[in-house]
Amino acid sequence: MKVDRSKGFWNKKEETMSKEEKKRLDTKNLLFIFRHAYNNSPFYKKLYQGAGLTPEDIKTLDDIRKIPLITKPELQEAQKRDPPFGGLLAVPLNKLSEIFISPGPIYEGGMADEEEKLIEAGAKAAYSCGIRPGDIVHNAFLYHLVPAGLGLHMCLRHMGCTVIPMGVGQTVYQAIIMRDLGATAFTGTPSFLAMIGEEAKKGGIDPKNDLKLEVGLFTAEPLPESLRKHLEDTFDMIARQMYGTADVGGISRECPEVSGMHLEETLIVELIDPKTKEPVAPGEEGDVTVTLPHKLATPFIRFRTGDGSVLSEEKCGCGRTSPKLLRILGRVDALTKVKGMFVHPANIKTTIRKHPELGNYEAIVDRPGLSDVLTIRIEFEGTGQTLPKEASEAKKVLEDEFKEMIRVKAEVELVPKGLIKETKEQIIDLRKFD
Ligand SMILES: [Zn+2]
Repeated sequence: MKVDRSKGFWNKKEETMSKEEKKRLDTKNLLFIFRHAYNNSPFYKKLYQGAGLTPEDIKTLDDIRKIPLITKPELQEAQKRDPPFGGLLAVPLNKLSEIFISPGPIYEGGMADEEEKLIEAGAKAAYSCGIRPGDIVHNAFLYHLVPAGLGLHMCLRHMGCTVIPMGVGQTVYQAIIMRDLGATAFTGTPSFLAMIGEEAKKGGIDPKNDLKLEVGLFTAEPLPESLRKHLEDTFDMIARQMYGTADVGGISRECPEVSGMHLEETLIVELIDPKTKEPVAPGEEGDVTVTLPHKLATPFIRFRTGDGSVLSEEKCGCGRTSPKLLRILGRVDALTKVKGMFVHPANIKTTIRKHPELGNYEAIVDRPGLSDVLTIRIEFEGTGQTLPKEASEAKKVLEDEFKEMIRVKAEVELVPKGLIKETKEQIIDLRKFD
């Protein structure tokens, strides 16, 4: 008998908050986090003083528009200038319970005192997506360095689930463990579960009958409708998604209505026009910009994620009152997500420019089947100054270097000089997300 995953709330009070209550909460949170960052983080103090702001200037929620926006490249710059935290840290170092690294890299502190709110937010999201207390959850997010695996692990445990701390890799073994332990829920990236499904079949495991999955909760990469259907059919389960970023964590999640993703109630989320830097109206595309009231160690205030989306304030059948992000339209800047990881074009360039015998290049990301493929085409003379002369050996060296630099496997294609007209520094994205 399958569990009913279509109704209810984890935290009904927060999830059905009225507009007035939400405004009061946001106002209180904004005033608190602005003052905390101003008084304790050298990065924010400098930024705000430069903008002529004092803590007294932020009194109402509308005053948020006086606060400068920040972007990931700005944080990276600050941390490069003044490692490791770039003045972002707003608590003493010895108060940190963890230090995470998000792609970039950006160093971020976590603190035991702020965990409670973050865990509650994660539990609301997981419940909204269909996970229930008592589920045996196969958690296939990365546990090392980034907060994804460990963070979700704590949320699921808090809900009363049994968590299998699987992590990534070992595709065939993943299916065996799911079967042996009778996992009822999967958390990870959708392309990875699709791959597990394929490998399971090859190894004689029938994903539908030998596995007991009833729900898949996905994030870190888009879940196109075709892939959702493929996973639901392959595993005979429901597939739901959350949206967040490696730096700020969970931002929104689907509900049983599957018609957009409700914003996490405790966050202050704005959609900003990338050109005018002003908020856009509901229905218009803007850059998802987040203020996290509970992240005290390394605050994020008016952080532009670089992801474009559209907000809907229409009433939802599930009863949750927070607005929904209708779809994530992809990066509004140069960062590109490949297999759930951000790839920076600058890191591709740095790797290539180490080798003078390499010429023009282009990087292309596509999804021919169920998983992303990143191909880097590079002109190579075969003269071997810093690389082996043989193209096949040079290709291997480069693939290892890319793997280390961008943390995503890339296919290197070496072509004769003259074949690539000009270097394209932006990653060319051929994937189609419906
Ligand atoms: Zn809903």
